[in-house]
Amino acid sequence: MSEHDVNMTVSEHDVVNPATEQVVQTVVQADLDRTDEAIARAEAAGGPWREVAPADRGRLLRRFSEVVDSHLEELAQLEVANAGHTIGNARWEAGNVRDVLNYYSAAPERLVGRQIPVAGGLDVTFKEPLGTVGIIVPWNFPMPIAGWGLAPALAAGNTVVLKPAELTPLTAIRLGELALEAGLPEGVFTVIAGKGSVVGERFVTHPAVRKICFTGSTSVGQRIMRGAADQVKRITLELGGKSANVIFDDADLPAAAAAAPMSFLDNAGQDCCARSRILVQRNVFDRFMELFEQAVLGVVVADPSRESSQMGPLISSAQRETVRSYVEGSAEQVDVAFRGKAPGGDGFWYPPTVVLAHGTTERVWREEVFGPVVAVLPFEDEADAIAKANDTQYGLSGSIWTRDVGRAIRVSRGIQAGSLSVNSHSSVRYSTPFGGFKQSGIGRELGPDALDSFTDVKNVFISTS
Ligand code: NAD
Repeated sequence: MSEHDVNMTVSEHDVVNPATEQVVQTVVQADLDRTDEAIARAEAAGGPWREVAPADRGRLLRRFSEVVDSHLEELAQLEVANAGHTIGNARWEAGNVRDVLNYYSAAPERLVGRQIPVAGGLDVTFKEPLGTVGIIVPWNFPMPIAGWGLAPALAAGNTVVLKPAELTPLTAIRLGELALEAGLPEGVFTVIAGKGSVVGERFVTHPAVRKICFTGSTSVGQRIMRGAADQVKRITLELGGKSANVIFDDADLPAAAAAAPMSFLDNAGQDCCARSRILVQRNVFDRFMELFEQAVLGVVVADPSRESSQMGPLISSAQRETVRSYVEGSAEQVDVAFRGKAPGGDGFWYPPTVVLAHGTTERVWREEVFGPVVAVLPFEDEADAIAKANDTQYGLSGSIWTRDVGRAIRVSRGIQAGSLSVNSHSSVRYSTPFGGFKQSGIGRELGPDALDSFTDVKNVFISTS
């Protein structure tokens, strides 16, 4: 085969089951020409799509939601095989796509503008769609993150081209098929599997893509932001996190300790909202650690297709090496307090690992590990807790455990993060806004706010003279 022939070979990617290391499917990676063709189809579909009557657009999104619901188990099983998500989580994730579509199906008929009092006429505003929106999805939550972008974008009258992560394209590809089955016109929602450096970059440089909705690492987000500047392209960025779980001495300590494991072990810690820093008030530190150890050791790390599994493998061998580099491979002395168990053999397993931090400068305390590793540090008082929680470039989420309502409110207001929970670890509800402060991102997804980032406001003055 000549070098030319090699270059002409269609690029493919083997999708691997992270729990077994077996190839699940081979997916063709779009090149630039295919990407441009898909964007051209999306652009052409834009005019007719924005002309669809609001109630009909809503009805189509509701039908899409119903079709997702009727394929919920299939989508969940696909995600278990592709991403190693536990079956319980994967069912929730497919259900989340259904719910987000259903939530935004009400939006087309409620996308109201304003009437503003002015002299000499009538002044009204419209929320206009942007055109074609490019959605770039990471591998950690392939289904929900796709849904959070595509549902409000389509509801607002945009067409969507969506690029899943190379490692986890299968559920997104299936969602693209289900959209057609539900009756969405061709070109309105297109999934383009391919590399970030090809398809993702093209979304940034192609003039017909008027907005990028990106979720992923801070470094790629920064690159997209720089590239988007060339065309003053709209962006929403959902980036990394290093969220704090702050536990005060007046908290229900057993409840805080029981909830803490899954706040950093859910999805094997590959969660931008993972509470990967635990701050515990010094006078209850030892008691908390005792309770916390029992709770961590009780987490079932097992084959994700088993109903009882609470934590599966990491996504890839490379990700496991990255996680290891924060513990075993670190140049710094890392003080491991205790570890849970993980299966051996095939699969990219890594055990739950709890590390004692000795200050706020250690790498494992400062950087996003994106694995089942948490660092714990004592604090003295409320001011110290807030200062330590905020001593980070990130600001995505966080939790506060206290029985004092005033303190809960003061600390919630004091922590610089977009999504906080008190006496719980919930971060994401489809009806409430989600997004980061500081280097965790720009813009808000979900809830009523998301529609603003998929529309531009147009002001029209009509003279009455
Ligand atoms: P990544 O940034 O490497 O990739 C994310 C997506 O961007 C993938 O689809 C990838 O193909 C694409 N991409 C890569 N290079 C690109 C480029 N030059 N131009 C355009 N697109 C490109 O991140 P990842 O490794 O897939 O995901 C893990 C990271 O994402 C973690 O840091 C995590 O915190 C973050 N994350 C954040 C959120 C959030 O909501 N804030 C959610 C999930 C993941």
